[in-house]
Amino acid sequence: MTLTAPEGSVAPPVAQQPARRPGHGDAFTAHMVATDWTASRGWATPELQPLENLSLHPGTLGLHYAQVVFEGLKAHRRVDGGMSVFRPWDHARRFRRSARRLAMPELPEELFVSSIEQLVSTDEGMLSDDPSHSIYLRPLMFGADANLMLRPSEHYRYLLMAFVAGGFFGQDVETVSVWVSHEHSRAIPGGTGNVKCAGNYAGSFVAQRAAQEAGCQQVVWLDPVERRWVEEMGGMNMFFVRGSGPGAEIVTPQLSGSLLPGVTRDTLLALAERAGYTAREERISLDQWRDECARGVITEVFASGTAAVVTPVGEVRDEGGDWVIGDGRPGPVTLQLRQQLVDLHHGTLADPDGWLH
Ligand code: PMP
Repeated sequence: MTLTAPEGSVAPPVAQQPARRPGHGDAFTAHMVATDWTASRGWATPELQPLENLSLHPGTLGLHYAQVVFEGLKAHRRVDGGMSVFRPWDHARRFRRSARRLAMPELPEELFVSSIEQLVSTDEGMLSDDPSHSIYLRPLMFGADANLMLRPSEHYRYLLMAFVAGGFFGQDVETVSVWVSHEHSRAIPGGTGNVKCAGNYAGSFVAQRAAQEAGCQQVVWLDPVERRWVEEMGGMNMFFVRGSGPGAEIVTPQLSGSLLPGVTRDTLLALAERAGYTAREERISLDQWRDECARGVITEVFASGTAAVVTPVGEVRDEGGDWVIGDGRPGPVTLQLRQQLVDLHHGTLADPDGWLH
């Protein structure tokens, strides 16, 4: 399916600055791509449009019953000046999986990727040549019926928007402190924790606020059954480094069904192997994390995600006692993997899997 620009649409902006400061989620670019689905017609031809407010009926089903899924991926400017989107086909597959879980129609992967190509090529001029900036792409789909019957919508809208993201590059790598939530869960067995739907995030905000009140930037979520296994953070997966040097072992919690299979997580497992480390998935309990840090077995911990890239964790605050990871500063394995990921995004590291699109 091809994309069409609406009649009378303007030429792509060139080197235009976004309205706001990059990195705060509101430096939106000038356009969006929109399409609709109905049972009788399927997907309509997507249209590139100026980014503008929506007109929605107050009874729009998605607003009431959270039949809303989304994705988050980035486009980077390569050192040769071209643009590359990172692993869009993997995000397209996860978007389909999320939609299926919420009884929504699945957007064809070709359509997802072509909408991204269209928006990035139109708005790439809004990205400066600062290599720490990128274009964060946000595909969104919601139930659009104006009907409050408690059932899946019969009409859906897909929107793709983008903003200029700032921030993660070079020497200015800051550690975060994290706070363990014992009171709340972000997911339940058989629930929606392993897909990317809006309700997962709304339910996590009270814990995020509690973490901030405790002086921390992120929440660590435990498994929802035994409440002892470390799962992930609010918008990032987690990695633990055991040992140091070439023999270091890199471990991430296995996919339990209640944590999100991050595209960055998958990328880092591969990059760690390629760098000669042993990389694997393993269940790690909170007690084990604390104990192995005390014994110097776990030397580094970091978070991974499209927004976070690789973010070192320096300190854990917990009702059972606080602890510091290593010397509280970014560790060498964390910094090495972070640099490799950044280099991969910018086209200066080999890309044998064809992840740059
Ligand atoms: N966990 C959660 C809950 C997330 O929202 C995200 C961000 N999508 C991640 C992990 C990291 O996923 P990815 O690497 O695909 O961005």
